[in-house]
Amino acid sequence: MSLSTDKINLLNFDRQAMEAFFTDMGEKAFRATQVLQWVHQRGVDDFAAMTNISMALRARLQDTAEVRLPELVMEQGSHDGTRKWLLRLDSGNCIETVFIPETDRGTLCVSSQVGCSLNCTFCSTAQQGFNRNLTAAEIIGQLLVAYRALGDTPKGERRISNVVLMGMGEPLLNFDNVVKAMNIMTDDFAYGLSKRRVTLSTAGMVPMIDRLRAANHVSLAVSLHAPNDALRDQLVPLNRKYPIAELMAACRRYVDGAPHRKVTFEYVMLDGVNDSAAHARELVRLLEGVPAKVNLIPFNPFPNAAYSCSGPAAIAEFRRIVNEAGLVTVTRKTRGDDIDAACGQLVGRVTDRTRRSRQFAAAQERMAR
Ligand code: SAH
Repeated sequence: MSLSTDKINLLNFDRQAMEAFFTDMGEKAFRATQVLQWVHQRGVDDFAAMTNISMALRARLQDTAEVRLPELVMEQGSHDGTRKWLLRLDSGNCIETVFIPETDRGTLCVSSQVGCSLNCTFCSTAQQGFNRNLTAAEIIGQLLVAYRALGDTPKGERRISNVVLMGMGEPLLNFDNVVKAMNIMTDDFAYGLSKRRVTLSTAGMVPMIDRLRAANHVSLAVSLHAPNDALRDQLVPLNRKYPIAELMAACRRYVDGAPHRKVTFEYVMLDGVNDSAAHARELVRLLEGVPAKVNLIPFNPFPNAAYSCSGPAAIAEFRRIVNEAGLVTVTRKTRGDDIDAACGQLVGRVTDRTRRSRQFAAAQERMAR
């Protein structure tokens, strides 16, 4: 089965690309605004319904273009209100998107790649291997599908107030498409989210952090997880390429000259691995001089994981030490874990093009013997 057609999927276009599309057709650039509003603010995918556009242009669009969303194949709801959607992209690949309602906001967690090419040892997405980058349409399509499933639009209740690029994949390894999709999220004629309410989380692609600032200065989260290179090399292998000192320098540059901005440092709490008081103090020293928030994430287990979550006392003590040093520290509430929708539990369905999932299965088998 193939879900692709020859038509141009307008979901791939941010304002700039959409304007180019219309001017290339010999049309006025403002058509871009109209179409963005129809598609993203009202959730309309049928050109015939776009009544402020001339019949002739509507017909032309129908012939050459389309608004094609990922196909919703399954929805799961958690007892805590979290909802997870499985979306099919093509015959071999599915991704997951998660909606997390809170009293004062609603956060959508979107994926940026099918699987992930990084190999963080505590993350279940890693074990699935990697297939491909998502297109901009497949990234922004997750907002459209979510809004549809919620029975809402950005012009209605606007239940999606925040977007985090914290689903499957490393967003900065899919830079152009991620930026395009985020441009649509922050465009007043589309989702109109402020840059602070869109957060990109990276395992530490240092050169891309600088490029991101220039492209779209959204909120930055960094998956730190360890306060020194020896430990981080093990947990986040990308650290061997971009060690902590370089990463910290990039984080400082990201918020430099933006006095109210802070980088969020994510820190997964792994029992007996990175959760001692000494680790907490080392983290405090490391973050000195960096405008930082710390987000402690209780480790979410998955089948055959090599780690377990730190105990509540260890998490509380770690948090106390970091807090006392003057750093805003929150412990991320685990949400949606009964439907495997929590951090690091998203797996979708990946036709692995690396050897990783096979190697992992073989290692499991050896261990079982
Ligand atoms: N690749 C990006 C985006 C993924 S964000 C990044 O690394 O930042 C997902 C967040 O959940 C990251 O901070 C990741 O390190 C964390 N995470 C991964 N596996 C986890 C697990 N099993 N339990 C808790 N957090 C996990």
